[in-house]
Amino acid sequence: MVKNYIIGIDLGATNIKIGLIRKRRIVLRAVVPTATFGIKENLIAGLSNAASGLFLEADITKNNVAGIGIGVPGPVDFSRGVVHFFPNIKGWCNVALKSIMQKKTHLPVVIDNDANLMSLAETRIGAAIGLKNVIGITLGTGVGGGIIINGELYRGSSFCAGEAGHIPLNEAGPKCNCGGRACIERYVGNRYILRNVRKTFGKGINLEALSRLAHQGNAKAIGIWNGVACHLGVGLSGIINFLNPDAVVIGGGVSNAGKFIFDKAREVIKERSMPTQAKTVKILKAKLGNDAGMIGAALLVEETLVKNEK
Ligand SMILES: [Zn+2]
Repeated sequence: MVKNYIIGIDLGATNIKIGLIRKRRIVLRAVVPTATFGIKENLIAGLSNAASGLFLEADITKNNVAGIGIGVPGPVDFSRGVVHFFPNIKGWCNVALKSIMQKKTHLPVVIDNDANLMSLAETRIGAAIGLKNVIGITLGTGVGGGIIINGELYRGSSFCAGEAGHIPLNEAGPKCNCGGRACIERYVGNRYILRNVRKTFGKGINLEALSRLAHQGNAKAIGIWNGVACHLGVGLSGIINFLNPDAVVIGGGVSNAGKFIFDKAREVIKERSMPTQAKTVKILKAKLGNDAGMIGAALLVEETLVKNEK
């Protein structure tokens, strides 16, 4: 039986996206709000049911499927397939997601951190295609990161490398959810940008509206985005000096502010990082958008499970 298909799941704090993938393309998909499931047992059952639903819709059986890849919003023990915890979804602590899903679906399962999978996807078929040393950054409520060295994901000793959002920018800044202080996320994470929006405009507007205002030339909105880009640029300068990557790929909702993030961040990086590293590095906008997690999860199956079979 030819196993042409892979299930790629992007388990997010807001939405769960499940894709049936063939030759690195999503042929069918389902999106379910994460809150629909409540407790984790229901959510895990939901993942398995959604996968079965896609098999039915595509008129295939699990014999046609090489495996299931799952990207999750938190630190993971990649080798054992255990979720340590999710900062933004309650009730997940030391969950053996891989073995639970394998028992439910009778398919091989691999799990990894979502920013790792975004970085893998953007390097294989996205903005950084063909490049060897790539840093992926996801800007959202949380700020995540992934490291590709010599074309392979670098996960670190306990599989937690790449936490770009939790690199401190100074010694005594505001406290961060991770327990540290003055982390990059504390300056460029969505909720902190929105806090500045409220302070500046005296009312809450969402980030799309903030981008629209900036594009219309509103100086206050441009000022907020430039501040975000400046903090990001300083943080990235350290990463760039340290790792000398070919490219940094930036994705996630905040990256949609476009030139207000990218132009300023590039300017700061040119100014603040060392000349050779600054000259080498490309600062790129992610290409795969909301699909990066699903495609990255499928690539993980391709590169771990399928490769091991050969
Ligand atoms: Zn932190």
